[in-house]
Amino acid sequence: MLHFSVALFSLSLLSFFTSIDSTPRITLGFSYNDVLLTPKHSSANSRSDADTSTKLSKRIYLSTPIVSANMDTVTESRMAIAMAQCGGIGIIHRFNSIEEQVGQVEKVKRFRSAVIASPITISPEATVCQARQLMREKNITGLLVTDSNKKLLGIFTSRDMRFLPDSETPIKALMTKREDIATGNKDISIAKAKELLMKHRVEKLPLVDENDCIIGLITSKDIYHRAEYPHASTDSQDRLLVGAAIGVKEDSIDRAKALVSAGADVLVIDIAHGDSDLEVNTLKQIKSLFPDVDVIAGNVCTPEGTQRLIEAGADAIKVGVGPGSICTTRIVSGSGYPQLSAVINCTHVADAYGIPVIADGGIQTSGDITKAIAAGASTVMLGSLLAGTDESPGTPFLKNGKKFKVIRGMASFGTNLKRADTTKKEAYVPEGVEAIIPYKGSMAETVHQLIGGLYSGMSYCGVSTLSELRGNGDFVQITAAGMRESRAHDVQEMA
Ligand code: IMP
Repeated sequence: MLHFSVALFSLSLLSFFTSIDSTPRITLGFSYNDVLLTPKHSSANSRSDADTSTKLSKRIYLSTPIVSANMDTVTESRMAIAMAQCGGIGIIHRFNSIEEQVGQVEKVKRFRSAVIASPITISPEATVCQARQLMREKNITGLLVTDSNKKLLGIFTSRDMRFLPDSETPIKALMTKREDIATGNKDISIAKAKELLMKHRVEKLPLVDENDCIIGLITSKDIYHRAEYPHASTDSQDRLLVGAAIGVKEDSIDRAKALVSAGADVLVIDIAHGDSDLEVNTLKQIKSLFPDVDVIAGNVCTPEGTQRLIEAGADAIKVGVGPGSICTTRIVSGSGYPQLSAVINCTHVADAYGIPVIADGGIQTSGDITKAIAAGASTVMLGSLLAGTDESPGTPFLKNGKKFKVIRGMASFGTNLKRADTTKKEAYVPEGVEAIIPYKGSMAETVHQLIGGLYSGMSYCGVSTLSELRGNGDFVQITAAGMRESRAHDVQEMA
């Protein structure tokens, strides 16, 4: 009997082990710091001839392969504007109300355009106080004054009320009147508009139809931005490109609808474990609602996850589980994949479908950007490298005589405390931290250094375009001694 039961027990154990894939698998994965790119012969004359244009997603092209992360200490409208001006793109985070996020997208889309198709207008009866509030809300310096049929009556600008306190005076008493305003028609060229703006020494040129009704507006600021930022990421109306993140729960479809109608150029479905039914279902729903809007899906770190999301309709794949500077996912859950290998493995599948990969998280230096692209990514998403700049949300503060800003993981305790039911806060298990980061000044300077480093990396790899670099890395694994040798050593750094 005993023998029988032991045999039965052994048999059931055996069938238990054979019913699951019996041997755990183990593979070797590499992070950026584990490798270097082997230098190759270069025939380029100048590093600055390098072409860094690339694809963000199926239909969106960028001249700079940098995307600012959808984190509430990294990307709101100010960062997104600066990113698009330098040829990259910013993704507005979703840790706010739908109205707030839509407002951020609108600020970016309104920042510049060849012709503002529906300029903000105000009635001549409105007071100075109301005009001031509208300008503040819309982040603009002037309003077209019209009747209810949009017939142009005047222009009221911040200059007209500069020395007035908040006042109940109607703006019709202070505005520049119609007879003193230069206008253009629907066919005016940018060169002619520039000429008129200069001739009349004004900032705004309203466009009117044959009934003198407003059909658009050209501003000198827009013309200046066009000349100052020739590589900016723009849409067909010369407005800056912007992306926006959505989640997979409650409000995600409503949020997506509102963001698309506000002009978001690309949506990012932002969840930590992107290889999930939740993500796939949301992605399918969004793609069926907006087949013409590119959707970036993620995050994943395996070829299987990449394929599942592409087959569900993804227009780009965001790769990275656990590499982020403020991320503790790997420690808390034990799961993740070293980022360089994740990028190589996921790109292998994504390339077969012609879908670009965004290497998200873990980029610490310009050299890591070169490595990520040589591993197959088309762009990189940055959090900590941009978080300490002027354009990131939040104000710098002093600590021990040095300036810092705050960065926090979107799965950190602090972020979720803001959103969660506070009576259940003990139940929340964070997968990110809140931290301080040295203040870095202007984002343009940081991006300049990163792109300069990328140019240099391309030259060492013997290529002059990102498409030549992408996926063509010749990596060498280094040891701890190799890592030590790679950094400044045996000296005391001045700063
Ligand atoms: P970084 O460039 O290394 O700072 O990484 C930024 C990336 O970290 C983001 O784009 C996200 O993918 C990821 N991330 C942001 N917040 C969290 C978090 O709380 N836990 C885990 N990963 C996070």
